[in-house]
Amino acid sequence: MNKIVNPEPLFNDEYTGEPPAKRVLGHIQSKREQGAAVAGLYCGYAPMELIHAMDIVPAVLCAFANAHIEAAEVHLPANLCPLIKSSYGFVIKDACPFYAVSDVVIAETTCDGKKKMFELMSHIKPLYVMDLPQVPDEKEARDEWKGMILKTKSFLENHTGKRATDEQIETALKDSNRKNALMRKIFDFAARQTPVVSWKELYDVISLAMSARAEDIIPQLETIITNLENRVAEGYYYGKKDAPRVMVTGCPVGGDALKIFRIIEEMGGVVVAMDSCTGMKGFMDDISEDTGDPVGAIAERYLRIPCSCMTPNNRRLTEMDKIIEKFKPDAVVDFVLHACHSYNIESYKVGEHIKNKHNIPFLKVVTDYSDGDVEQIKTRVQALFESI
Ligand code: SF4
Ligand code: SF4
Repeated sequence: MNKIVNPEPLFNDEYTGEPPAKRVLGHIQSKREQGAAVAGLYCGYAPMELIHAMDIVPAVLCAFANAHIEAAEVHLPANLCPLIKSSYGFVIKDACPFYAVSDVVIAETTCDGKKKMFELMSHIKPLYVMDLPQVPDEKEARDEWKGMILKTKSFLENHTGKRATDEQIETALKDSNRKNALMRKIFDFAARQTPVVSWKELYDVISLAMSARAEDIIPQLETIITNLENRVAEGYYYGKKDAPRVMVTGCPVGGDALKIFRIIEEMGGVVVAMDSCTGMKGFMDDISEDTGDPVGAIAERYLRIPCSCMTPNNRRLTEMDKIIEKFKPDAVVDFVLHACHSYNIESYKVGEHIKNKHNIPFLKVVTDYSDGDVEQIKTRVQALFESI
């Protein structure tokens, strides 16, 4: 038995017990009232530090509900990734409160589906598509991406009237590093032999940390760390002591896709590592400080993101090695959305790496946002746990 059944929640505010999006929206609205502009985003490549430095709040846009996919399919092919269809459906149905408060949208040429969907979306609100180099280790890539970040800066200046000096960008990247270090400290509590934090709580903290700048969230992160230390001191642990520890890697997970975490938990597992852009990925790496070229330093950091749209994406394997070493999962689940060719193809490489190098059972789950396959996934997760 856990010593404390209901530990103190990580956030103790008016949003406690509400879906994480409400707290994030409340934060964005309060910044807006204080004079900040808002930039809607869909991807981990959006340069957050530049955005923060310009007094713009990043708003991660809605992309994870089955609800508006049918509307999207009137314009988009049905056999497209649900994340793309959902993003578009939310916008044309005017159902995303984050999009509603956004002054502009920043997009990237990551996968073909998104790139082409952005063409349709670009008529609704000012939208800038950053041309992402896809062979990140080529020596030109850094300067190309730096140039693209500078063009994004001009776009933001033109559409929001906001500006930032190099000094302000340098401060923003240092702040981001401080925030990320605290986030990693929080993740350490999931890495413990008996984790003291649940995936839901992590998801809650990550959701706010993606939008909030360091000065707004650091006091809260410090309180959360104290709270988690107290849990450790009081002997609390999350889940069963012998529960299989699971790392989930792959496509971003949110909203209706959270079913994968719920299923793992229902089948008796504990999610200890969330290796995706809606999970821990954005906080695992730092930006070089005091280089004299803060935009170049940001460009380098973002090109190190191990996304499957990059080729080759070997960094995904080396980053995964570090996560496995730290979080010690008993099994790895690769979460792949229907029609996401890049993550789907890469899954073979990932699976071989996990099995050969780490000797850990591996399960690839290809799914969408509906719940039609929940029972089938449960059976497969159960078989995975039996193989540990
Ligand atoms: S997985 Fe790749 S394309 Fe998707 S949000 Fe992350 S960086 Fe962007
Ligand atoms: S999950 Fe895959 S297909 Fe869908 S938007 Fe992301 S990279 Fe593109």
